[in-house]
Amino acid sequence: MSQPTLPPRPRLPQWLRRPLPTSPAFGRTRHLLDELGLHTVCESAKCPNHWECWSKGTATFMIAGDRCTRACGFCAVETAKPLPLDKDEPARVAEATARLQLKHVVITAVARDDLPDGGSQHFEQTILAVRAQNPRIVIEVLTPDFNENQEALANVLRARPEVFNHNLETVKRLTPSVRSRATYDRSLRLLRQAKTLADFPLVTKSGLMLGLGETDAERIQTMEDLRSSDCDILTLGQYLQPTTCHLPVVEYLPPEQFERLGQIGRDLGFSHVASGPMVRSSYHADQFTPPATGNGECSPAS
Ligand code: SF4
Repeated sequence: MSQPTLPPRPRLPQWLRRPLPTSPAFGRTRHLLDELGLHTVCESAKCPNHWECWSKGTATFMIAGDRCTRACGFCAVETAKPLPLDKDEPARVAEATARLQLKHVVITAVARDDLPDGGSQHFEQTILAVRAQNPRIVIEVLTPDFNENQEALANVLRARPEVFNHNLETVKRLTPSVRSRATYDRSLRLLRQAKTLADFPLVTKSGLMLGLGETDAERIQTMEDLRSSDCDILTLGQYLQPTTCHLPVVEYLPPEQFERLGQIGRDLGFSHVASGPMVRSSYHADQFTPPATGNGECSPAS
């Protein structure tokens, strides 16, 4: 019996091929994370910027374990029954932040649908620990949707992060095939609710992966929907298949398309847009950092 013919996979274009940087700083970051027993999304999600970011001494901490209760089609983080929370992890994230001398830290977590609070109190404790040891730090959290649990959202906001990031990931039509359990509308509501619930000037942020088969009209509609949800910062990056078990890339957008879409985002009123093939939600996150006093305005870091 003849096998069905699969469409050819697009070849990785030149603009996505980059030499691996060699830097002693990479080894130092590796050593520090190992010593403190911390997970990063850089490694767990097979981020293509892993070498660059670690060589610059930055990383995105992934708390609440390295086993996720969801199974999104784009994400390389392992899906498995999670282990109990590590109560000392917040202190170790705080120590790593201090030793890396970060001015802007990004903290994300696996989805913990097994916990009644979705791991939100662990987020809160981590933010508080990082702040206590790094008083001038800007803290950005990149959270799951907490199944729209308002109490969970309030737990995170009680610790007053400067930036609340929740990725929409893709357009509405593709969400059921790209994200596990999450819905497009719920994510939009979460972003709006974060802004509404915060009793301080919170900056909200979201990101999309492009090249999953969405149309240009859908991309623009999604940006409009984010703006309608009062989202301040947008990241647009090229989806890259982390392993052959994950969703295939449908299209590689050339850099000019990212520039064009980024300009559309700016015209729609986002305070900041990072748009480029290698952009990820935490890539160069400190380039659009809100002031430490947190007055709700974003400015480029000097
Ligand atoms: S872009 Fe973010 S997740 Fe990727 S390596 Fe850099 S800090 Fe880590």
